[in-house]
Amino acid sequence: MKPLSHPQWEDLCRRCGGCCYEKIEHDDGFVEHTQTPCRYLDGRTNLCLVYQERFEVCPDCLPVRPETVAELNWLPEDCGYVAHLRRVRAADAGPTTDLAGQGRQGRVQRVSVLGGKR
Ligand code: SF4
Ligand code: SF4
Repeated sequence: MKPLSHPQWEDLCRRCGGCCYEKIEHDDGFVEHTQTPCRYLDGRTNLCLVYQERFEVCPDCLPVRPETVAELNWLPEDCGYVAHLRRVRAADAGPTTDLAGQGRQGRVQRVSVLGGKR
């Protein structure tokens, strides 16, 4: 599969807001998904209220980048980036081969880490 352009990468996001809920990473690595949304998530539209400055105002907000998305095991199964990763792997191109070098940011995540990790 060919590497994606920035707009193509951005378009993978479904704007579902599914990644914008607090998560708890346990000591054994298990990630628990909670029903607690980020304070900046608009519950009506599922869009971020501070998207342009999200990393400044929300320290827990993390970028989804092509080179790191394969490591983000807390993304929802129906996330557009997860679906893309599945397609890449199915095509046997390998996630790093297909995704490397884009350096773009997609939607972001919020993770609350408990139990002394990180
Ligand atoms: S994009 Fe980041 S700041 Fe915005 S709602 Fe989601 S987690 Fe919060
Ligand atoms: S990054 Fe994934 S989970 Fe988050 S809003 Fe986009 S499609 Fe939904």
